[in-house]
Amino acid sequence: MFQKILIANRGEIACRVAATARRMGVKTVAVYSDADAQAKHVAACDEAVHIGGSAPKDSYLRWERIIEAAQATGAQAIHPGYGFLSENEDFAQACAAAGLVFIGPPPSAIKDMGLKAESKQLMEKAGVPLVPGYHGKDQDPQLLQREADRIGYPVLIKASAGGGGKGMRLVEKSEDFAAALASCQREAINSFGDDAVLVEKYVLRPRHIEIQVFGDTQGNCVYLFERDCSVQRRHQKVLEEAPAPGMTEALRRQMGEAAVAAAKAVGYVGAGTVEFIVEQPGGYDAPEQMKFYFMEMNTRLQVEHPVTEAITGEDLVEWQLCVASGQPLPKRQDELKIIGHAIEARICAENPDNNFLPATGQLHVYRKPACTSFERGSVRVDDGVREGDAISPFYDSMIAKLIVHGDTRAQALARLDDALAQTHIVGLATNVQFLRHVVKSDSFAQARLDTALIPREEAVLFGQERVGLPLAAAAAVASQLQREQAQEGANPFSRRDGWRSLVACRRRFEFDFNGTHAKAWLTYERDGGYQLTVGEGEGAAQGPLAFTPLAGGLDLQYAGQRTCATVYAQGETDHIFTPRGATRIEALDLLAHAGEAASEGGRLTAPMPGKVVSFAVQAGDKVTKGQPLAVMEAMKMEHTIAAPADGVVQELLYAPGDQVAEGAELLRLSAE
Ligand code: ADP
Ligand code: ADP
Ligand code: MG
Repeated sequence: MFQKILIANRGEIACRVAATARRMGVKTVAVYSDADAQAKHVAACDEAVHIGGSAPKDSYLRWERIIEAAQATGAQAIHPGYGFLSENEDFAQACAAAGLVFIGPPPSAIKDMGLKAESKQLMEKAGVPLVPGYHGKDQDPQLLQREADRIGYPVLIKASAGGGGKGMRLVEKSEDFAAALASCQREAINSFGDDAVLVEKYVLRPRHIEIQVFGDTQGNCVYLFERDCSVQRRHQKVLEEAPAPGMTEALRRQMGEAAVAAAKAVGYVGAGTVEFIVEQPGGYDAPEQMKFYFMEMNTRLQVEHPVTEAITGEDLVEWQLCVASGQPLPKRQDELKIIGHAIEARICAENPDNNFLPATGQLHVYRKPACTSFERGSVRVDDGVREGDAISPFYDSMIAKLIVHGDTRAQALARLDDALAQTHIVGLATNVQFLRHVVKSDSFAQARLDTALIPREEAVLFGQERVGLPLAAAAAVASQLQREQAQEGANPFSRRDGWRSLVACRRRFEFDFNGTHAKAWLTYERDGGYQLTVGEGEGAAQGPLAFTPLAGGLDLQYAGQRTCATVYAQGETDHIFTPRGATRIEALDLLAHAGEAASEGGRLTAPMPGKVVSFAVQAGDKVTKGQPLAVMEAMKMEHTIAAPADGVVQELLYAPGDQVAEGAELLRLSAE
């Protein structure tokens, strides 16, 4: 076994690798960029080396620096994590040339599986089933069009070098093919430096089921069962679970053996994932009719590997270190068993109600559920941030992964909902509440899984508020009273909260709740109790308000409801978390309202920090409201910026490729 390894990554995966290394008595070296000087992964390792600027190309992608750091610190091997250099065969090669072990597959296997088209040709030879399609070298547009017509619509055009859900175009009919091809090739050359594409049948309502495989240098190869990653937005995974609901033993064996055949065909060593797209011609209730096709192989540890760890009880990073140091696989196929059910939720800094726009900012509050790692019935949190840390625009938007395990899927689901309810994040938009809605949706609860689950359940997933105004106002008033009581202590003469010894006294509050203006009246009763009225007229709520402090929150009773509420005040806004959901409410200053912030007018600003990809207009163009003006890229996603009103473009203030700050003016529009 190695004495010391370098982890060429950051964030949660760097912390996760460091944890296993520490447990195994292997010393770790972190590398970090300017933005990560104080990051959690630096503290998680025994030593750390600064490797450059904040942008990945100036640090985490500079492999010569990383290799120097390994040599300078005496590390014997490099763990690449996922993303960054993990699927870079040149880096794997350079490690070997420098006398370092790359903790991953041989460079040749990375290369063979690196391009989707080439890997499909190899898989065809190895007898692994493929989606009907064209994955040849000839990229003549007319030929591609003919192939698409032959396959039959809808088809999917995929950048062969693509990844991370990018470089894909769905084409519904023959007439649209040429334009979609051109646009896919443009994105492919910009994002991956290679415009080769493949065309394949677009499988309707498919599931994404992938198999975890592991090979060693002695020629052994096993599969650690499957993960279902069908719940996706923008072709990116949101929830992952193992085992796949409805999986039959026969299909599990077939898919596992196909995945092992795929790995063996490229001489695979280490951890890898073979992704399959699964057709359900018989619908959700006929798993025996499921048909699987090879999609791609990811030649690294995958983000969602913890669900496999939870159901097998194995530590995949430990397996990686064993295999990389030349040991045989810790277990044979017949020694591996599935225990219970596990689900992972990716907690991301993003706004689901605004098309999943990534968010950046500081984690003012970051409270997690209590964890019990690697045990049955467990809750595990893998993260690379601490309270107070910032989610910067330089890296992707994942804050943490929540992994739960239960004896059954239903148990795991309930535990996940609980754990999400106990995840309190204040300071930036997150998908935590959205994840709770997905978990509770009929489709997910009943395991009616396919990649269209999110659009299908749209009505119950977006813009949902599980905490109404009465409870939110009651929580805000109660926490205000509690703060005042704490400040003023027990001296009744110093109380400014409206307390009077002889007459009952009323106090008025005004709130902004989801854009609506609400009034509330609090009455102090002689016995020390409170009455609260929220709202006016028919919808008003009225009744006694009671609250007592509870570990980390308030036991709150109002309007026939009793709940545990945790309230975090940030300026005038109270962020309220309850087991049923979270919300926020803003206290309005009674003296100064009206006079809303001036409108943005004709300015068009970047909604988040990122890179300008392209402008769809030029100076002098007349545009109409809603027309796409520019495309920005931030945190792995592209966002189209549309005209807020009709007007004429006066000036473009940036060029494609420029990095812009949040709020930067991108172009100037004038009303006609
Ligand atoms: P999975 O491990 O399940 O395939 P993702 O597809 O989200 O997860 O990719 C894992 C990581 O790999 C991401 O967090 C990201 O850092 C990186 N990654 C993969 N593909 C790309 C890409 N095309 N551009 C940028 N980053 C990518
Ligand atoms: P990436 O490298 O970006 O992960 P994949 O080829 O793995 O690209 O595909 C990503 C996702 O796109 C899949 O999980 C699935 O949701 C969808 N997808 C891919 N191929 C097809 C297909 N032929 N039909 C329908 N959906 C597909
Ligand atoms: Mg994929």
